[in-house]
Amino acid sequence: MSTLEIDRVRKSYGSLEVLKEVSISIDTGDFLVLLGPSGCGKSTLLNMIAGLETISGGEIRIAGRVVNDLSPKDRDIAMVFQSYALYPTMTVSQNIQFGMKIRGVPKAERAKAVQAAADMLQITHLLERKPSQLSGGQRQRVAMGRAIVRQPRLFLFDEPLSNLDAKLRVDMRTEIKRLHARLGTTIVYVTHDQIEAMTLATRVAVMKGGVVQQLDEPQTVYDRPANVYVARFVGSPS
Ligand code: ADP
Ligand code: MG
Repeated sequence: MSTLEIDRVRKSYGSLEVLKEVSISIDTGDFLVLLGPSGCGKSTLLNMIAGLETISGGEIRIAGRVVNDLSPKDRDIAMVFQSYALYPTMTVSQNIQFGMKIRGVPKAERAKAVQAAADMLQITHLLERKPSQLSGGQRQRVAMGRAIVRQPRLFLFDEPLSNLDAKLRVDMRTEIKRLHARLGTTIVYVTHDQIEAMTLATRVAVMKGGVVQQLDEPQTVYDRPANVYVARFVGSPS
């Protein structure tokens, strides 16, 4: 069974059609990158998987269950955005465990989960700080920690590195790749950066104007682009 099936999904805002029958299916452990230029519909698609946008047509299934009408909290997902909205008055530790606290997870169990996530992200020394005392990269790690402790079936990332400087972007890319390997989790990751896509993905969906131009392994997209647009976008020779 596929972990995520996007089945002939459409989206319109009034007369503006932003997604035209998109179909993508990925398995457990896949790292799917939605790659394309600004405005091609990547965030809209991700938000529909998350339940933050309604679907104009088609079906989205997570672990075989149709989620079209489910609220975000019932979808077994966790999302990391470009702007990591941490709670400013809470410490890092409190930020990471806030969701668990609301769900009534006992304190000892929360502490254990925070410790494990902090170890993995190398932020143990930051747990008692406030977000204002962190760098951009550290904040992004905290945002990832918050997602990890939820142990979702599906992680959704929307351009999580685009606010960071170039050096940090490369470090965080490595970090995300390591996390994916270590957790064996399934990820859908939006970016307009072809290098990010090629280094992270197990599967890449190259998008243009609300249409998936090619869905393949990164090497295949590079070696055998489906059309001139894909070739130009990923920078392959043909
Ligand atoms: P991307 O993430 O690839 O940059 P988006 O999914 O944000 O693209 O946007 C795709 C298209 O949908 C764009 O043309 C954008 O202007 C339009 N769009 C996005 N959200 C809305 C909205 N709430 N109302 C109207 N148009 C929207
Ligand atoms: Mg976007």
